[in-house]
Amino acid sequence: MADQTPQFPPLSTPYAPPPFSFPHLSPPLPQPIPSPNPNPNPNPNSTFHLQIPFQGKRKRTGFRRKASHPSTSEVTPPLPPPTPPPPPPPSLPFYPPPSGPNPIKNPLENPSLDLSEEIIVINKEPTAEALTALTAGFPADSLTEEEIEAGVVSSVGGIEQVNYILIRNHILSRWRENVNNWVTKESFTSVIPPHCETLLNSAYNYLVSHGFVNFGVAPSIKEKIPAEPSKPNVVVIGAGLAGLAAARQLMLFGFKVVVLEGRKRCGGRVYTKRMEGANKSAAADLGGSVLTGTHGNPLGIIGKQLGLSLYKVRDKCPLYRPDGNPVDPDMDGKVENAFNKLLDKASRLRQCMGEVAMDVSLGAALETFRHVYGDAVTDDEVNLFNWHLANLEYANAGLLSKLSLAFWDQDDPFDMGGDHCFLPGGNGRLVQALSEGVSIIYEKTVHTIRYGVDGVQVIAGGQVYEGDMALCTVPLGVLKNGSIKFVPELPQRKLDGIKRLGFGLLNKVAMLFPYVFWSTDLDTFGHLSDDPSKRGEFFLFYSYATVAGGPLLIALVAGEAAHKFESMPPTDAVTLVLQILRGIYEPQGIEVPDPLQSVCTRWGTDSFSLGSYSHVAVGASGDDYDILAESVGDGRLFFAGEATTRRYPATMHGAFISGLREAANIAHHANARALQIKVERSPSTNTQACASLLADLFREPDLEFGSFSVIFGQKTSDPKSAAILRVALGGTRKKSSSDGVKTDRQRSNKLLFQQLQSHYNQQQQLHVYTLLTRQQALELREVRGGDEMRLYYLCEKLGVKLVGRKGLGPAADSVIASIKAERGNRRASSNSTDRMVDTKP
Ligand SMILES: Cc1cc2nc3c(=O)[nH]c(=O)nc-3n(C[C@H](O)[C@H](O)[C@H](O)COP(=O)(O)OP(=O)(O)OC[C@H]3O[C@@H](n4cnc5c(N)ncnc54)[C@H](O)[C@@H]3O)c2cc1C
Repeated sequence: MADQTPQFPPLSTPYAPPPFSFPHLSPPLPQPIPSPNPNPNPNPNSTFHLQIPFQGKRKRTGFRRKASHPSTSEVTPPLPPPTPPPPPPPSLPFYPPPSGPNPIKNPLENPSLDLSEEIIVINKEPTAEALTALTAGFPADSLTEEEIEAGVVSSVGGIEQVNYILIRNHILSRWRENVNNWVTKESFTSVIPPHCETLLNSAYNYLVSHGFVNFGVAPSIKEKIPAEPSKPNVVVIGAGLAGLAAARQLMLFGFKVVVLEGRKRCGGRVYTKRMEGANKSAAADLGGSVLTGTHGNPLGIIGKQLGLSLYKVRDKCPLYRPDGNPVDPDMDGKVENAFNKLLDKASRLRQCMGEVAMDVSLGAALETFRHVYGDAVTDDEVNLFNWHLANLEYANAGLLSKLSLAFWDQDDPFDMGGDHCFLPGGNGRLVQALSEGVSIIYEKTVHTIRYGVDGVQVIAGGQVYEGDMALCTVPLGVLKNGSIKFVPELPQRKLDGIKRLGFGLLNKVAMLFPYVFWSTDLDTFGHLSDDPSKRGEFFLFYSYATVAGGPLLIALVAGEAAHKFESMPPTDAVTLVLQILRGIYEPQGIEVPDPLQSVCTRWGTDSFSLGSYSHVAVGASGDDYDILAESVGDGRLFFAGEATTRRYPATMHGAFISGLREAANIAHHANARALQIKVERSPSTNTQACASLLADLFREPDLEFGSFSVIFGQKTSDPKSAAILRVALGGTRKKSSSDGVKTDRQRSNKLLFQQLQSHYNQQQQLHVYTLLTRQQALELREVRGGDEMRLYYLCEKLGVKLVGRKGLGPAADSVIASIKAERGNRRASSNSTDRMVDTKP
């Protein structure tokens, strides 16, 4: 069967530049490098098309390949999540559009200029560097919420921010050019003008402390770990990727670290088992196996530092019917198409349903449509269709009947770009390297964690480990099971989050054969079942012959079948797999030998995991990942692991990144404690709670003009009463007047940049906020000249500071609460609202 890579349908929304530009960048933007990020929004009517490969979510192979978001040709707006994904706030510059050509001035060449008002020129690669920043998880031209919280610039928006971003992107790019290097601040002083030294410090410190540069296992990095730790003690619970990443990073920062691990080995859900027999051997990844996207993937960086090359999983994935005959390619294509359409219908449904979609499962929506539209009709088609459902259950490690229709794919915008890859020899090589030099005590099953103002006590067996702080990285399954007693009990909102999020199951049968009898021009093939309840049973096979060092096949068990599999005797499982393989290969005249060794996983009953990976279950949302990440006990007890990352849940890289994140968080709290500064709980309980509320309230703004919306604190006409303004970045914007003077080449480069940025923005739903008075909001509405002039007025004339939702602070919390209460009353009394909707452009 031919390559199964589906064609992603062209989208028809005309291109419109985002509300941002690099109007003053000079010299001309260079030819861009291809972005690793998908570009779902090419404008078919434009002569300018981005030819960036789309990492189709509908590809059938690879971990967490899922359905796409609805195409942008659909007119219904997407259902806003309870809180938007992390909103990198305002894009660049908040100053009036230039009245004419405004060539960039190099401040070094013109000392009479006010330097702080000039955009610096670091080199000729700002676009390429911005794209590198995108791959590393930063918006190329704006700040992340975390950067704003860390106070990397003195005020958000404006030229200082532009310069910071240029410097940040440059440092990131320089390190990514050679990740074996320890990049020093001093190495930038020749290219960063002296007046930007503070920004250089700020960007460098942020990137190093948050693990964006100078992390990993390269000798130059390892040698920076101080021989004598001078910082407080941290007890890390769990030696999976999250625990190991955090431990290494903390050691680098000078903390004294001990890792307590319940198993006899490290790696947790990354487990490469050496299989052997009759002079054959192979490395089998029984847990996490596929690096889902290489661009910006920190595990790819670790691999690079170890001199390991990744192997791209090929797209070709033939499917076989229950009787072993190949599926007809035409029917295959037709059903895949129907399946994708059904997912699109489900997406549209959730948009219409609004919040109700939170209480409905993806499975229920798909089943309803399936019956209404009768997409699959013959038995063969039904089997094929069920295979796609199994694939979706595999991607999410969850029964479709348990996945939230509203948010099951909330992390899709943060998919790492690039190929899906295997690491030859298995991911255990990464684990091995990460664990070297880390003090890990094995077979220490933690059953109690006490935390308080003075520190923590972690109890495993009869031993008590005391520390200044602790980091808990145990899987969500272990938390759900209550295997660890927290004293005092965890806050109710965290307990609720733990309960709401789903933790599903995926199992594997790994088989080492005496020789490769299957085709070597593919890495995957699938098998259909005619029993819907067994649709996930050995539905997909991974051939590891090219990367495992021997003739290894792995069969996957997903969905309902994965649960039944937990109690299936291993010999029965292997017999069933062999039946399938013989059904496929023997009619082709190929003999299928008995395996030399087989292993069946039991991730569901493994007491150190109790499941495979997390998903957004019915009733849950992306917020729950944030809640699970919240520290407790005034900066004493922290949490990391795949189920604590909203952007990259259920993945190996997500676990690793969460470890780096918490190392930064722990260091921040420890430093603040040392300086006796009170750290605001981050993210604060209130802020989190208000975030969802805020998103709800802005669905019905009191005022709307351009990209601005306002909700009023009180229904009085008091001009001094409080209001909350939200600026939506990422929509459309009229061309800046300066565009007219650019050359075609400049324009097309800029367009590319903007298009990428636009794509990023659309994915990210950029929202920034401020508190202001009713009077100010009304004044702002009257400003002519479009959004740019309004932003200028807001920042320069009203002097307000735009912040991410978390930066609004307690004053806003009470305004939000009062609006909520008032609206509740209004609804209750069914009065008509006094809502004004101003549709000024
Ligand atoms: C079958 C399967 C296939 C997967 N496939 C992929 C894939 O292809 N690509 C991908 O990116 N991801 C995949 N994943 C997900 C990925 O493996 C995980 O997201 C990631 O490894 C989780 O890392 P972690 O550090 O958060 O948790 P873990 O790796 O689970 O680490 C937690 C550690 O805590 C220990 N622990 C638990 N309880 C205690 C206790 N009470 N006391 C002391 N220690 C304790 C555990 O033993 C474990 O070592 C897969 C997972 C599974 C199970």
